[in-house]
Amino acid sequence: MSDCIFCKIAKGEIPSKKIFEDDEILAFHDAAPQAPVHFLVIPRKHIRNIMELEASDISLPGKLLNKAQELAAAQGCAEKGARFVINCKSDGGQTVDHLHVHVLGGRTLSWPPG
Ligand code: 5GP
Ligand code: ZN
Repeated sequence: MSDCIFCKIAKGEIPSKKIFEDDEILAFHDAAPQAPVHFLVIPRKHIRNIMELEASDISLPGKLLNKAQELAAAQGCAEKGARFVINCKSDGGQTVDHLHVHVLGGRTLSWPPG
């Protein structure tokens, strides 16, 4: 989608600190990190949110989470863990309408969210 900031990052039209990319997904550091480790894993395909995930894309969340887990471990979160978050639409606190998994780690996070 032409005016989507994450599509632009996926195409390299907007710079980002990329951690990983292949033909389907990419991961990059969040521009406003909320923890010592804070990166995002996204599909290249523009899917607005988890509610709009279609049956034909059902394998994508597994790939996103698998890569999120692998990269979290590589960034030192294997022992103490991390938070893996998918915000969805306004009540879920989503601000960028392109499906993404947040990974936050490196400190103890509170629960429940505000
Ligand atoms: P959401 O609130 O939609 O779940 O999360 C969107 C995240 O994207 C936020 O944590 C925000 O800091 C991050 N973000 C927004 N714009 C950019 C950008 O241009 N580059 C990067 N790296 N992160 C961004
Ligand atoms: Zn997009």
